[in-house]
Order: sequence, then structure tokens, then C-alpha cells
Amino acid sequence: CGIVGYIGEQKAIPFLIEGLSKLEYRGYDSAGIAINVNHELQVFKKKGRLKNLEDQLDFSLETVVGIGHTRWATHGAPSDENAHPHYNMEKTIAVIHNGIIENYMEIKEWLIESYGIAFASETDTEVIVHLIDHYYEGDLLEAVKKAVDRMEGAYAIGVIAKDEPDRLVAVRKDSPLIVGLGENENFIASDIPALLKYTRKMLLIENDEIVDLHKDNVTIYDDLGQVVKRDIFEVTWDI
Ligand code: GLU
Repeated sequence: CGIVGYIGEQKAIPFLIEGLSKLEYRGYDSAGIAINVNHELQVFKKKGRLKNLEDQLDFSLETVVGIGHTRWATHGAPSDENAHPHYNMEKTIAVIHNGIIENYMEIKEWLIESYGIAFASETDTEVIVHLIDHYYEGDLLEAVKKAVDRMEGAYAIGVIAKDEPDRLVAVRKDSPLIVGLGENENFIASDIPALLKYTRKMLLIENDEIVDLHKDNVTIYDDLGQVVKRDIFEVTWDI
């Protein structure tokens, strides 16, 4: 029920866990993170409290990009397998998602029947991973755009790719998503409190917008692929 993401020059894991802890008030049954370490995706996810996940992690690990999730199950029971991030068999794409993909059954059947894709979870979310993987030709933003065109429902999504460690792509429709702007680092989150320790400069993302984040720039696109100019929202209050 909460998402966070980091791209920058600092270690990602301490932020991901701190950010998720600030989103705990939203409720959750499992938690997980995915990071890119030397061009390999590593995923850690666990049913239950954030503490269960934290105990598996090495906070000193050198990784400068990552995504994190707290789940409130809608499709598939709370379990380690159904926890996010989800990823494909080759572990080239990792996805976190808040919301519901209404037409996931239809997409899932298409992926299984046409391409023999093996699913590892019972979630609606997992179709997003395989859709992006299906469309991926070396440009994560393009693949996410194509995948989103097929999806109906509500979503705030964060995606990273093994082969693009300098990039984080996010998209929203009817689930909350904001971007935080830092110095040589940028963030995504479901809500402002997750980011306040790191920055007060936010971009409020609107429905059907896709965001391409790098450590030193952030570009927002509308659903027609046009670049959107968004004023920085400066947060003046504290938690
Ligand atoms: N529908 C997804 C699931 O059940 C995401 C739920 C959420 O928003 O945490 O895994």
C-alpha cells in the first residue's frame, strides 16, 4: 500500500527502508525491495512486518538505485511469493505496484497462451512485469509506455531494469505518486512524509503521467508522450 524509489549517488537501501517505515500508517501485510547491484537485480521480500525484511538486508551494500513496497493484498494471499517487487524469470525487470489491474486475467491468459510465460505469484501485479519484459528492447521508458497502454485499473508503479542501472521509471493512474528532487539524487513515493527527511522539493504527478528519473534529471510525460512542465511544490510543513 506504499511505494518508494531511489536513484542517485548514495546507498539506496537505508532510504528505501526509512521511506517505507514512514508509509507504515497506510497499512500493509508484506514488504520488499529490489536493487541493482553491479548490473544484477536483487530482490528481497517478506510477509509480515518491515522488520522481517530489514533483518535480511545489508545496509552497507553499494547500490544507487532501488524500489521498495509495502503491500495490502487485493489479489493473492499475503505471502513471500505474492509480496512485491515482482520480476521476470531472467530477473531483468522488477516492478512495484499499488492498486489493482482490472484486466489482469485477460493479459495473463494472453501471455500464457501466446508466449508460455510462467507466473510465480497469484497477483494482478505480475502481469505488469511480463508485459514490460515483452515490450522491452533496451529502453525502459518505451516499454513501460507500451505496457501501460494495455492496462486498465488503478496503479502507481515503479520499475527498474537490470541493463539500465541509471534509470527509474514510474507511472500513476488513480493511485498516489509524488517525485522528490534532491542534489544528484531523486526519489519517488506514495506520499510526502516518506521523503521529507531527504528533500522538500516535490513534483506532484497527475493521472496518466509517466516519469523518467535519472540521478540528475526528471522528465514527466503525458499519455500522448508530450513532455509536461510541472512547477516544483515546496513543502513548508514538518511531520
Ligand atoms: N493488487 C496488488 C496486490 O495485491 C497491489 C496491492 C497494493 O496496493 O499493495 O499485490
